[in-house]
Amino acid sequence: MTPIDSVLNRLDKVKSNGKGRWKACCPAHDDKSPSLGITETSDGTVLLKCWVGCSALDITQAIGLELRDLFPGEKRERRGPSP
Ligand SMILES: [Zn+2]
Repeated sequence: MTPIDSVLNRLDKVKSNGKGRWKACCPAHDDKSPSLGITETSDGTVLLKCWVGCSALDITQAIGLELRDLFPGEKRERRGPSP
C-alpha cells in the first residue's frame, strides 16, 4: 500500500481535485466541508494542507498514522542493524 492509499482510506469525503490532488474533511478539527488538501508528489510523498491550520502531525495522528507513513516505503522495511 502506498502512502497516498493509506491516507485516503482513512479520510472522509475524499474527492479528486486533479492529478495527484485530493480534498477531504480534515480529521484533526471539526470539519463540515472538506478543507484538507492532499497532494501526492512524484516520488510518492503525501503532503497535507489544512486551510484552518492543523499541522501534518495533528492530521496523521488523528487518523492513526505517523509522519513517516507519509513517505514512501524503504525506511519502514529496512530495520537497521541491531546493536
Ligand atoms: Zn484541520
